[in-house]
Amino acid sequence: MSVDDSAIDLIEGKVLPWQQQTVKHLVELNQQRRLPHAILIEIATQVDSRNFGWYLVTALLCKNPGDEHRPCGACQHCRLMHANNYPDFTFTTVIENEKTHKLNKDIKIDQVRRLIHQLSLTPNLQAGKLALVYPAEKMNTSSANSLLKTLEEPADQSTLILLTHNAGKLPITIRSRCQFIKLNNPPMDMAQSWLTQQGVEAQVIQEYLQLTHQDAELALNLSKQNFIENLKQAQAHFQDYLDNQLDVVGLYNQLKHLEPSTLRLIIKNVLIGSIQACLERPLEASKKQQLKHLIDLTKHSNFVLQTEENNLNFQLQLEDVLISFKQIQNRGNDNASTEPGYLVT
Ligand SMILES: [Zn+2]
Repeated sequence: MSVDDSAIDLIEGKVLPWQQQTVKHLVELNQQRRLPHAILIEIATQVDSRNFGWYLVTALLCKNPGDEHRPCGACQHCRLMHANNYPDFTFTTVIENEKTHKLNKDIKIDQVRRLIHQLSLTPNLQAGKLALVYPAEKMNTSSANSLLKTLEEPADQSTLILLTHNAGKLPITIRSRCQFIKLNNPPMDMAQSWLTQQGVEAQVIQEYLQLTHQDAELALNLSKQNFIENLKQAQAHFQDYLDNQLDVVGLYNQLKHLEPSTLRLIIKNVLIGSIQACLERPLEASKKQQLKHLIDLTKHSNFVLQTEENNLNFQLQLEDVLISFKQIQNRGNDNASTEPGYLVT
């Protein structure tokens, strides 16, 4: 088996109730020998989904699937997958840079070339060759282009699964050559009962599902971090900052205990809240300018805060975003007759 190092210890096969139907459908196609050579699955959740990818591959390989085509966990193929030792499976993901020890920003062309080579070899076991690329949207342009020939002329008994959170980021040439499957977030009633089973308190479930646009996995993760409580506190600090009760360093000190990913989401929420507030007022020329600046800042902050997450520059970038935010809000409010109403509730 060829696998990138970062995948070594994460074969914790699990599937969520709203994902099971897709797994079942693909296992049935496989049993009928109608599984496409290339499958592009867009998964709606924002939460890391490599476990779903591993589960799907294990289900496709299992020699003795149980109810709903769940992998048995006991046959030779399941055991090889669980031991991360299945000889005909290749997993390609974003890996750590050997020199900097930071995660690369994309999936490199060398990795994709290795995957193509693996798929072209004769399978060791009867189930054929399987490759999983996740998150597929992280392939850079040359990595994606190098896959085209494989997609047009797939090797016998080979299946390539591209799992992505955003199929739109993949070139159309790739998308058009794959069977496309969309894995949506669960319907509201299923999301609610699942979160209840996971132990989330009933009175906050609705709020978390609204915040995450029904992404139940993300809702669960955020509720474990007490995100809504943190968000409300941060919003109050932002208001103090805009009212000159706190300076930018003071605001940073109030926020710095939060995980960078939580902090990024809070900032995004505050910025989107101020965009919504802008849209609710009459859009005269100065407001249009403010709106444009806020949208630009939202995109910019999402990018820089993600890029700098593990870097000393994070504080500098964050303060830069906070200063820009205040400048935009102050400029926008010079002509406003109402109090700034940017808070998201
Ligand atoms: Zn099995």
